[in-house]
Amino acid sequence: MNGLMMDDFQLSLKVLVERAERLSSASPVVSRRPDGSVRRTTMGECAGRARRLASGLAALGIEDGDRVATLLWNQTEHLELYFAIPLMGAVIHTLNPRLSADDLSYIAADAEDRVIVVDESLVQVLESIDYDFEQVIVVSDSGSLPAGAIEYESLIADCEPLSWPAIDERQAAAMCYTSGTTGRPKGVVYSHRALVLHSLVFALPDALGISSRDVILPAVPMFHVNGWNLPYTAALTGAKLVLPGPRLDPVSVLDLLEGEHVTFTAGVPTVWMSVLQAVDAEPDRWDLGSLAQVNLGGAAVPVSLIAGFERHGLAIIQGWGMTETSPLGTVSKLPAELETLDPREQYEYRARQGTPIPLIEIRARDDDGALIPWDDQTMGELEIRGPWVAAAYHRGTGADKFTDDGWFRTGDVVRINERGSMRICDRAKDLVKSGGEWISSVDLENELMAHGAVAEAAVIAIPDERWGERPLAAVVLRDGMQASPEELREHLGSGFAKWQLPERIEFVEAIPRTATGKFKKTALRERFVEQAA
Ligand code: AMP
Repeated sequence: MNGLMMDDFQLSLKVLVERAERLSSASPVVSRRPDGSVRRTTMGECAGRARRLASGLAALGIEDGDRVATLLWNQTEHLELYFAIPLMGAVIHTLNPRLSADDLSYIAADAEDRVIVVDESLVQVLESIDYDFEQVIVVSDSGSLPAGAIEYESLIADCEPLSWPAIDERQAAAMCYTSGTTGRPKGVVYSHRALVLHSLVFALPDALGISSRDVILPAVPMFHVNGWNLPYTAALTGAKLVLPGPRLDPVSVLDLLEGEHVTFTAGVPTVWMSVLQAVDAEPDRWDLGSLAQVNLGGAAVPVSLIAGFERHGLAIIQGWGMTETSPLGTVSKLPAELETLDPREQYEYRARQGTPIPLIEIRARDDDGALIPWDDQTMGELEIRGPWVAAAYHRGTGADKFTDDGWFRTGDVVRINERGSMRICDRAKDLVKSGGEWISSVDLENELMAHGAVAEAAVIAIPDERWGERPLAAVVLRDGMQASPEELREHLGSGFAKWQLPERIEFVEAIPRTATGKFKKTALRERFVEQAA
């Protein structure tokens, strides 16, 4: 017997955006321009302008399924494009301006982007891309445009609002390419259904708990995995949205957090390490009384960062995810029954990557393909499935990442405890295997960063004749602080076996970052391994 419900009601982004237009049209949208000036508008106005923008794109020939690229910061125009492109039936393809020109040229061609919308501060990046877009649209304050380009505002001004067509929930809404740590970047294609369900679950109290009363500041770029879905979650809930533009230095972020009474923010740990240093240096400068949650993810969150923010009364919640998982897969929250643990143990629990959010399932398999027990000891490669997890890549590349029985192989090596909370020991290729035993570089990094003089630390494997591999730690010291390699090894000594300690501790000025702000271990490997060889 079938249910008799409206099962053909389509879970498309149209439902979210039309809801925002009708029910939370007055919700503020604040956008900081690259020059630091701030613009204020509303959800209703953005949704209305998105209709005219879509007419303008249609007049340029954009049709169902066509890819429209964006090269923009977190700014109002990007939000309007997040609404307009998928709702007209086309596909928004966000380009990461920090990728190399070679990668950007490859990605634009692979996605077959037709039109691109670019902020004038990024025109130089656009010019480095070796690909012929049919049309360039520029968001410009100055009014000076590259030859043949159309100005964004004039495109909108000349157009009538579009009535959104019916959208099948399985239709593609957005595209984003993986960061390509191995091989060429691969295209992930998000369906409307995936993004709607992701936004819904993201907002649940036991996930990240977002409501209409929140003020969200995405300190994660909107070109990285749907801006972690925060723009769509704001549309769904009616929360106020604060878009910080390109400047994510600590003072700019802290000024906005205070000035706009932000309650929820999210980003990669590296941004927040510098924010913590700024708050530590001037604890009374900013009033962060409104800020209820800081959601960190994209890379491991050291215990020291959780404890550091806690000292200022700020709660860090770690999430784990990938481009292929839209991005949120797991969230790390302390179960009620563990609230009696001492603070250090609580921080350690929260530094785990956490439990799958509703509708997501995880498992892990060892080298022989056997499922690992959830005993928090055995390590295995994490596999994941759920309604917002990729089932394939664009053009069928990377087919080996998908199992025959419908799971996605993440490449992350994890342990899982009896509560279903996982902790990452490493990316499969980042583990250090010394004398046949694994050393977790993440654990070493965490412990190094818990030392008062250490601002940042990244551990890589270096080849070793006797042991196969040994760990090498690259360390950035805090301004004005000193520590010797011996002292750091001594500090590590309490939590690690002697054979796990890195012989080489190299002091560096900065740890190279990937285009999404994570530690770029490949660059360290190049510097310390390949050059030495
Ligand atoms: P990307 O697709 O660029 O977002 O990268 C996804 C990868 O980032 C994951 O497979 C993990 O290796 C890493 N990652 C994401 N979130 C976390 C986290 N909370 N802790 C540790 N690693 C993470």
